[in-house]
Amino acid sequence: MPDLIVLHHTAMATPEAALARLCDPGPEVSAHYLICERGRCWQLVAEEARAWHAGAGRWGDAGDVNSRSIGIELANRGDHPYPAPQMAALRALMAGVMARWAIPPHRVIAHSDMAPGRKSDPGPRFDWRALARDGLSVWSDVVGQGAQGARGAKGGQGAAWEDFLRDAARFGYPVAETPPQTVLDAFRLRFRPHHTGPLDGTDCARIADLAARFPVDRGGASA
Ligand SMILES: [Zn+2]
Repeated sequence: MPDLIVLHHTAMATPEAALARLCDPGPEVSAHYLICERGRCWQLVAEEARAWHAGAGRWGDAGDVNSRSIGIELANRGDHPYPAPQMAALRALMAGVMARWAIPPHRVIAHSDMAPGRKSDPGPRFDWRALARDGLSVWSDVVGQGAQGARGAKGGQGAAWEDFLRDAARFGYPVAETPPQTVLDAFRLRFRPHHTGPLDGTDCARIADLAARFPVDRGGASA
């Protein structure tokens, strides 16, 4: 039974090209749904069937993500904004999927969340905050202090990194097998888009807030 939703972008020039690729039985690439920029939605795989959209990666203790997730592809060349009709179609689709399978908002993730470094979709142009406002994902606006993490003032960057990575793992990021900077990059792609620079207090405060409210392996959701 699916208990995760993974959002993607197609990174192809047109939705038709993406559709052709997703329907091609040759490469092992498929997703349950594809939504074009104008809001048209194609179902490519039945929700109860396994699709090939996630590949290698992990979220919390969920290793074989394909076998327990619904994959939704958004047609996008990779660096374009997501138009309103496409987001409206996504919201309607997600509301239905989440109701049918009782998937809570914190089980909606980016492909880049479960495969940091290897994948970067749906990318920094995707509006996670708006999705969370509609109860379709989670968000944090917490702002931390200073250039370093919570313990940073006393323990320096090392302690800040320790805190950040512990909380990132509690939230779901595959920390054990991922270089620390790559975890930070994936986190920022979703929760601090376009932010650069060394690990700081807001990174630490925001992931701590998310980990405290949405620990990935609390009951039910683990396998
Ligand atoms: Zn993807």
